Amino acid sequence: MRAAAQEILGLDIQELTGLLKEWGEPRYRAKQLFEAVYKQRVTSLDEITVFPKPLRDQLKEKHLQVSGARVEKKFLSSDGTIRYLIGFADGQSVETVWMPEGDDGEAGDGSEAGEEETAARRRPRATICVSSQVGCAVNCKFCMTALLGLKRNLSAGEIVAQITSVLNDHNVDLKERRINLVFMGQGEPFNNYDNFIKAVRLLVKGVGIAESRMTASTSGIVPKIYDLGKEEIRPKLAISLNASNDEERTKLIPINKKWDIAALVEAAKAFPLRKRENITFEYVLLEGENDSIENAKEVIDIVNSFGERASRVKLNLIAWNAGPEIAFHTPEDSRVHAFQKAIRDAGIPAFIRRPRGRDIYAACGQLKRIVTIEPATV
Ligand code: SF4
Repeated sequence: MRAAAQEILGLDIQELTGLLKEWGEPRYRAKQLFEAVYKQRVTSLDEITVFPKPLRDQLKEKHLQVSGARVEKKFLSSDGTIRYLIGFADGQSVETVWMPEGDDGEAGDGSEAGEEETAARRRPRATICVSSQVGCAVNCKFCMTALLGLKRNLSAGEIVAQITSVLNDHNVDLKERRINLVFMGQGEPFNNYDNFIKAVRLLVKGVGIAESRMTASTSGIVPKIYDLGKEEIRPKLAISLNASNDEERTKLIPINKKWDIAALVEAAKAFPLRKRENITFEYVLLEGENDSIENAKEVIDIVNSFGERASRVKLNLIAWNAGPEIAFHTPEDSRVHAFQKAIRDAGIPAFIRRPRGRDIYAACGQLKRIVTIEPATV
């Protein structure tokens, strides 16, 4: 029987050093391998030309491989968004979304911190939305991923592979293109915390994407908000609020029974913010459910309960992206703008996220591995 292949993608520098040391290879080889896999984003051992051929052959004999992930399908939206279906060795797959020009989700969140503002603006940008699990167990009532249930966690390598696959597909040179990452695809990243945070470290130290360009969104797994705050390398924090009171939130996001809005606010208030960093509340607007002016007033009260910290909170508003099997309605633009105005009039920054890729089921809350759609794949 053929031995199972071992993935290199997902191993950090210490693990690679240990692995190569077992075979009597010097330490610098681990560094070369790390550079090749993450920075150069090679897709096969043969591309690691800095290694002598006998060493490459040895890696193959030991059944090592760079990544078993592959792009199974691509769906192109009329707005330029691409939804990738990325498959893994066990036959499972997740979605990763490429959004040229982004969706304005990072507006007002301090993304430009640490970089020359004008230079950053000149570089073309794109946002990649990444999955952290296959399916999801959180069961938010407005989300199509919830309908899949949780299939399994992704490994750190599988999380990184989504990004390297998409970057390679677009031939991205990170010096020339500004890439933002949002952990908002399939899954709740904080329910797969160790793999998620390991992937973040590999993306920063290996692939070369700054942590200030990454945002992780949680449905409100409160203990992990505290854990994230203690990380040396971490993305920015976004919290899916989606309701203005506990009764409504528990209906929409059942884990609110365990960690309610007060617990969320307490964790968010304690979250150590870096210079120019803000906390984002994501708010999916559902017509007639949570999009009234009364709801907006309750949201303002929640933000004001941050006290001095209220000035570091911003809101991202998302008009619900419809999907089959879910019986909510998307509010009219006028309602979305009225909600935004009410929040802004209270002095709280509120941005409307542009829907990206709705026609190919790539938009926020629509990821359910749907393959039978028009228009055609690319
Ligand atoms: S919104 Fe996020 S946390 Fe909620 S079910 Fe969907 S994928 Fe899971």
